[in-house]
Amino acid sequence: MSEKEILNFEAETKQILNLMVHSIYTHKEIFLRELISNGSDALDKARFESITKSDKYKNIDDLKILIEVDSEARTIKITDNGIGMTREEVVQNIGSIARSGTKLFLENLEKNKDKKEGGIDLIGQFGVGFYSAFMVSDKITIETRSVESEVGIKWESIGDGTYSIEDIDRSIEKRGTEITLEIKKMDSEDAESDYVDIYVLQRLIKKYSDYVNYPIVMNMPKIKEKDDDKEEFELKTVNSMVSIWQKNKSNVTKEEYNEFYKAHFHDYQEPFEVIHSKVEGVLEYTALLFLPRKSQFNFLSPDNERGLELYSKNVFIMDKCKDLIPEYLRFVKGLVDSPDFSLNISREILQHTNQLKKIASNIEKKILDLLQNTLKKDRAKYEEFYGEFGESIKVGIYSDFTQKEKLQNLLLFKTSNDKDKYSTLAEYKDRMKEGQDFIYYSGGASIESIERLPHMEGIRAKGYEVLYFTDRVDEFMVSVMRDFEGTQLRSISHGKIEETKEGEEKVIDAKTTDVLTAMKEALGEDKIFDVVESDRLESSAVCLVSKDDGLTFNMAKVLAESGNNVLGMKAERILEVNTKHGLFDKIRGEYEENKASPLFKEYSELFYDQACILEGLPLDDPTLFAKRMSDLMIK
Ligand code: ADP
Repeated sequence: MSEKEILNFEAETKQILNLMVHSIYTHKEIFLRELISNGSDALDKARFESITKSDKYKNIDDLKILIEVDSEARTIKITDNGIGMTREEVVQNIGSIARSGTKLFLENLEKNKDKKEGGIDLIGQFGVGFYSAFMVSDKITIETRSVESEVGIKWESIGDGTYSIEDIDRSIEKRGTEITLEIKKMDSEDAESDYVDIYVLQRLIKKYSDYVNYPIVMNMPKIKEKDDDKEEFELKTVNSMVSIWQKNKSNVTKEEYNEFYKAHFHDYQEPFEVIHSKVEGVLEYTALLFLPRKSQFNFLSPDNERGLELYSKNVFIMDKCKDLIPEYLRFVKGLVDSPDFSLNISREILQHTNQLKKIASNIEKKILDLLQNTLKKDRAKYEEFYGEFGESIKVGIYSDFTQKEKLQNLLLFKTSNDKDKYSTLAEYKDRMKEGQDFIYYSGGASIESIERLPHMEGIRAKGYEVLYFTDRVDEFMVSVMRDFEGTQLRSISHGKIEETKEGEEKVIDAKTTDVLTAMKEALGEDKIFDVVESDRLESSAVCLVSKDDGLTFNMAKVLAESGNNVLGMKAERILEVNTKHGLFDKIRGEYEENKASPLFKEYSELFYDQACILEGLPLDDPTLFAKRMSDLMIK
C-alpha cells in the first residue's frame, strides 16, 4: 500500500472552494441534491459496466443510496454501491475541475462580481457538484472502492487548499463510495436548516431527488402501533422513484418540471419552455424537453456536446445521444425514454438509427412548432427567446437546408423601419414599396455602423427598408437562403441595388466615363475591380461596393476575424463615385486640364481611401493618407 500523501487542489478548484467556504449564504441545501446525483450517476455507471464485466460486479440488482445521520457527532454519511473510484480517479475527479463549464462559470463570476444579482448568489443556486458540500461541512471524508483497484482509497479535506489521500483496506463487497460530512455548527437555532436531522434530510430528498431512479434509503422511526411502544427504527426508501417523465402530464405541476430541470440539467434558472410528449404506436417513446432561458456560458464551445439523454423504461442508457437532436438545436436539454431500446444496445446504437432518426425528426418538428406558436401567440416571449438563441435558428438555415421553410419564418431582424423593434420577414414583405423587387439587407458590426454607411443614402431616398444584419452568421445564412417566399434578398453593398428595367438604361456621358477609367488605371487592379458612377449616393462623394456574386466586406471581415478564411477569399472592390459631388468636379477639372497630372493620381487615391474608411476597412497606408490630406489642406 502506498503512503498517505498531502496534495494541493488545482488553482480553479481552490477558487471554487474558497467561494463555497466563505462567500455563499443562500441555497446551501443543494449540497444534498448534488451528492445524491453523483451517487445516482455512479450507480448508472456500475449498472452499465456490469453488462460486460458481470464477473466483477456483484449485487447489481441491489443498487441504492444510503443516508445515515448522527446528530450527536454532527455527521451525515452518504453511501452508494456504484462504480467507486481508483486512486487516479479520485485525484482526477475530486482534486481538479475537469469540466470546462465550471472554469467558464468562474470567469463569468469574476466578470459579474460587482453586479448585484450576478456572481456569488448564483453559484449557490447553481451548485458546483461535489464542492458544494463544503458550504455546510468543516471536513469531508471519502472512502471508495472500485472493482478496477486492489485497494480502497481514503480522501480527506477541510477545504483549505490541500487534501490527503491514502490507500485503505476496503473489500470488494463494499464497492462504491461513502462520503462523510462533518456538518458545521449552526450559528442560529434555525432547525429547518440544521442538516443533521432525519426530517430535514427527508424533506430535501423529497424536494430535489424524489425522481432519482434508485432507492434513497434512510433509517426512519417505525410507525408505532401503540402510543407507548418504544421507538424503533427501520430502513425506508424516502424517494418515490417515479420519474417525472413517466407521470401523466396532467399530474405534473409547473414547479415540478422546473425543479427537475434545474436539478437535473444544472441550471439555476427556470426553463423557458417545457415539452412533454408521449407517443404510442409503432414507435413508442416519451420525450421531456426543455428550452433553457439563457444560453450557457460555454454554449458554442465544442466541449459542450449536444445531445439528449436516452433511457429505456426509466433506466439510463446514455448521456448526450447526438442522433436525437440536430446540431443547430444543441441548446435544447432533455431526454427520451423508449422501451424499444435496451441497456446493452447503447454501444451498437447505430443499428437503430432508423428509429432514432424518426424520434429525432418528431422532436425537431415539436420544437419548431412550439416556437412558431409562441411567435404567433406571445410575441414578447418569443423575442426574449430569440434574443438568446436566434443565432441557432440562423445556423439551422445555414447548415440544414431541409428546414429552411419553417426556420425562415422564425427569423427576426431589426430594420431601418424601426431599429428598436424586431420584424419578421413576412412583416417586411407587407411593408414593401410598390415597385420594390428585393428584400434589402446590410451587414455590419452594429446598427449604428450600418446606418452610417453611404450606401444607405440612395435606399433611404427611395424609401426602401433595410434589414440590419448584425450577427456574424446573418450574411452567410442569406447566401444559402437566397429568397424568402419568392422575393430575393439583396445586400445594399453589392453591385446593383436594382435591376435596370428596359428603356431605363442610363447613358453616361463619354467624358465622365473617361475620368472613371483613368481613375481605375491610376488605382490599379490590385486595389480595385472597377470604378463606376453611382446612383445610390446623395451627399457622400464615394463608396465601395462588392461584386454581385461575391463576398460582402462584412463577410470577408467575419471570415478574417474567425480565422476561417483558409482560401484567402476576399470581397472584390468596386469604387462607386457620386459624379454630382463637388469633389468629382475637382478631379475631373484636374484630369481635363492635364491628363498626366500627378495630382490626379493623388486625388484618386484619396477617393479610394475615403471609401475604405467609410466602409470600416483598414487603409493600406494610413501615413500616406495623412500626408496627402495635409498637402491638400496647405494648398
Ligand atoms: P459532476 O458530477 O458534475 O461531474 P462533481 O464535482 O460533483 O462534478 O464530481 C466530479 C466527479 O467525481 C464526477 O464526475 C465523478 O467522476 C466523480 N464522483 C463524484 N462522486 C462520485 C461517487 N459517489 N462515485 C463515483 N464517482 C464520483
